[in-house]
Amino acid sequence: MVNSKTKLRVAIIGSGPAGFYVADSIFKKKPSGAVVDMFDLLPTPHGLVRHGVAPDHQKIKAISKVYDKIADNPDFRFFGLVEFGKDIVLTDLKSRYHQIVFATGAQTDRKLGIPGEDAEGSRTATEFVAWYNGHPHFSHLDFNLSCERAVVIGVGNVAVDVARILCLSENERKKTDMADYAEKKLAVSNIREIVMAGRRGPAQAAFTNPELRELTALEEAVPSTFADEMRMDTMTQNLLKLNPDVQTERKLEILSGFSGRTASKKKTLRLRFLLSPVSIETDAKGRVCGVTFEKNRIEKRNGNMVAVGTGETETIEAGIVFRSIGYRGVKLTDIPFDDTAGRIPNTDGRVIDGPGGMTLTGLYTAGWIKRGPIGVIGTNKADSSRIVDLMLEDFAHGKRLEPSEPEGSISALLEERNMPYVNYAEWKKLDGMEKELGEKEGKPRVKYTKIKDMLTALGKC
Ligand code: NAP
Repeated sequence: MVNSKTKLRVAIIGSGPAGFYVADSIFKKKPSGAVVDMFDLLPTPHGLVRHGVAPDHQKIKAISKVYDKIADNPDFRFFGLVEFGKDIVLTDLKSRYHQIVFATGAQTDRKLGIPGEDAEGSRTATEFVAWYNGHPHFSHLDFNLSCERAVVIGVGNVAVDVARILCLSENERKKTDMADYAEKKLAVSNIREIVMAGRRGPAQAAFTNPELRELTALEEAVPSTFADEMRMDTMTQNLLKLNPDVQTERKLEILSGFSGRTASKKKTLRLRFLLSPVSIETDAKGRVCGVTFEKNRIEKRNGNMVAVGTGETETIEAGIVFRSIGYRGVKLTDIPFDDTAGRIPNTDGRVIDGPGGMTLTGLYTAGWIKRGPIGVIGTNKADSSRIVDLMLEDFAHGKRLEPSEPEGSISALLEERNMPYVNYAEWKKLDGMEKELGEKEGKPRVKYTKIKDMLTALGKC
């Protein structure tokens, strides 16, 4: 029987920023009244901070120190290398926790739905990002960088990351913690021109100004735009007159500075606009050899500035294509999934049994799997805090699961199942070893990129 003194027990699935901010908020709002067990399918925590944030963005990656502090709480436990739906299932958790939070992020990518999308050489940004960041599930991949031109479809911050990584000089790469194999592969890359293409105009581009400004400082690459694609359409001009937006104006200023720049450095990063991909072209062997785009104009429809095809096409030759049009959530076993939106259906973080459906007691969701793949790391802090308010309200009103198994019994279950789970102290040991290896090479760290090597280093296999 649960009474007001009952210690809240929460399981969090996923150890990225959203999961950690949920844990932090629980500890802050219910000091010494809650235990939090966090599970991740990888032995290492921190999700996209480790495997998504670009390896040359070490300042952003430093946020992991905040997560270490949260993990210092004696009521926090980490279970790495434990996959929800396989190693533990919903019923295991329902009998051990009052509340379960799904914070598994968006692990796959959206599809373009155009011919040639699955051809050899047509790759997703998701897999390239995970590969250069040393994600153990992607470390076996190979990318053909022997061609001279790459096309990146999409103009969000992920597309900028992909394009910038392709542009880095040896000196710039050496200061990163990108996987060893990626550093070696990029060192022999023949790519000299990277074309990044957006379907709408520069004013509507999703990338943000600091990321754009960073492109001007690349040692070996020069960013360039075409003047005719920079010319603003009347509708966008009118909209900006009516609703002045400093960020957009600044973005246009930076982009104008790129206009007409020619290749004064080894590589060119071309930012193209008003181009929708209609087909990924292949050669006789079925390998990517280019992308055909339809040229667009901008129109205002239902209050949105949308790209409308003009019928005119342009084919850009390329040996590799990176599709960077947004991430997408993956369905979890026994948990409802809204396939259209690519996320767990929920009302403000409370899981529901389908769009417009009933609330499922004790189940919550946070981060990209809750709201879709939008927002930066910091977005999760406020969002997770709001979800915890609802969780504590529900707990106080008796809307919670009734665990029958004793607190802490999850470790016994995992041991019974021979699961060699990794705890936070072991992760900190790995973290220390990676940093030590990095120090010898003048890098932030040298990552373990294979699970077996991590377990061997920890003496667990
Ligand atoms: P995003 O910001 O949503 O950008 C997606 C891009 O794909 C947009 O240019 C979009 O164009 C385009 N797109 C979508 N569907 C398309 C289609 N069918 N055909 C052609 N283009 C299409 O997504 P993201 O770049 O994956 O980033 C996800 C989130 O992570 C964002 O919030 C981002 O800011 C954040 N992030 C931040 C950083 C950083 O802070 N340094 C780094 C990486 C990611 P439309 O605009 O026309 O839809």
